[in-house]
Amino acid sequence: NSRMQEFEDFTQSPKLQDVRYDVRGPIAQEAARLEREGHAITRLNIGNPAPFGFEAPDSIRMAMISNLHDAQGYSDSQGIYSARIAVAQYYQARGMTDADPADIYLGNGVSELISMVLQALLAPGDEVLIPAPDYPLWTGATTLAGGRAVHYICDEDNSWWPDPAEIESKVTDRTKALVIINPNNPTGAVYPREILEAMVDIARRHNLMLLSDEIYENITFDDAEMINACTLSDDVFTITFSGLSKTWRVAGFRSGWIYVSGPTHRAKNYMEGLTLLMNMRMCANVPAQHAIQAALGGHQSIQDLIDPGGRLFEQRETAYRLLREIEGVQVHQADGALYLFPRLDPEIYPIENDEKFVIELLRQQKILVSHGRAFNWIDDNHFRLVTLPGVEDLEHAIAGIAEFLADYRDA
Ligand code: PLP
Repeated sequence: NSRMQEFEDFTQSPKLQDVRYDVRGPIAQEAARLEREGHAITRLNIGNPAPFGFEAPDSIRMAMISNLHDAQGYSDSQGIYSARIAVAQYYQARGMTDADPADIYLGNGVSELISMVLQALLAPGDEVLIPAPDYPLWTGATTLAGGRAVHYICDEDNSWWPDPAEIESKVTDRTKALVIINPNNPTGAVYPREILEAMVDIARRHNLMLLSDEIYENITFDDAEMINACTLSDDVFTITFSGLSKTWRVAGFRSGWIYVSGPTHRAKNYMEGLTLLMNMRMCANVPAQHAIQAALGGHQSIQDLIDPGGRLFEQRETAYRLLREIEGVQVHQADGALYLFPRLDPEIYPIENDEKFVIELLRQQKILVSHGRAFNWIDDNHFRLVTLPGVEDLEHAIAGIAEFLADYRDA
């Protein structure tokens, strides 16, 4: 047909070239394919509490339902006042007595806020210090914003804590921000005061913005002490990220916030840029904003889950104990969050490509975990397992992993 012209195909922007988010990449697609074939897959790959029977307290769902009528229109782009005052009071109760609703910005989950905070900050080539392993959105969103993710390596032999000296050695004149993920996904580490203070001090001395992702702040075990980084200084510009997805188990609501603290008068221009981006997306999902006040007030049963005897506590104990029984598996017990990040001894398991390895595990055992490199980890000998399934499901899944590893050793 002479009227048909030859056009080029539609292709993705080159700015996506180095952007990765492998936790939902090829492994998840392979799992979906196996499910279409009729296989039941045990999903130990995503920290999504509700499908594992961790439902939100009724009061949270009720707050959303009963406000639906008033939630039909857009809200202010910063978020509704009743939610922002609740978040401000939440930080006041943690020692930030000056926290004010004006310092709180609501978003469609922490995810959206991470992207906007970095988009507003970074010029091409600017560097952001991010832990390895990390929650990979931090690296992906930095790259997408034109920045460069510079990873500081957390030390597996020292409770997966970062080494402040190493962080400082990676500061350059292009470094704009220091990211803290505490409690950490994927390692489960909860950082002690000395390390957090040293990190705050690095931000102070090098004029870095401190970006503290604390979405797991209420999920800590035993006597691990959670310290909000913002409470450690009043002279370091700090953005604290948290939200409803984990503690309040409504990840599907897409509801999170940032709290801006420290010398905010030095960040006026930056905040104007961030506000512009917030305006351009109108506002966060309004029905879910109405859930925030109900979530943050009152007893919300997370304590019952993390205390000895609670589901999260017991499941983490089970997973830790069973993984350690497998030959050549080392694992650090999580002090917080919802994950374990075991190491497979490379002498026993000489894995060349950890993504292929977990895909093989998936095909053989129908168990889905995430490979270590998906979290920007530096070797092929780690994987992340979610401790959300019930004890019996975990026992079954880890037995499958053990069987797969035994075959691998024998092969
Ligand atoms: N930050 C960390 C460390 C996470 O693990 C997650 C989700 O797994 C998020 C942020 C994203 O949370 P949200 O559901 O609020 O977007």
